[in-house]
Amino acid sequence: MEKNKKVDIPIREKGKCCLCGEIYEHYGNNPAPIMFNGRCCDDCNENRVIPERLNRFKDAYIKRQKILVKHLNTSIPMEELL
Ligand SMILES: [Zn+2]
Repeated sequence: MEKNKKVDIPIREKGKCCLCGEIYEHYGNNPAPIMFNGRCCDDCNENRVIPERLNRFKDAYIKRQKILVKHLNTSIPMEELL
């Protein structure tokens, strides 16, 4: 679908972090799932983006467990999903 098409923004070696406005170097980092455009600096990646990804993973895991327990009366240990 056209609506979900990803916009290609050229990645520059240096630029402004889309989360804190600081200058990033070495192409920055992918800020998803906090932002879907631009790049972010190493600080934001470490302190905001990665914790957010882990949280979302945990949420998705818990949601899935609830469905499994409800319908199949079983669960998958988290280690098996990593
Ligand atoms: Zn930043």
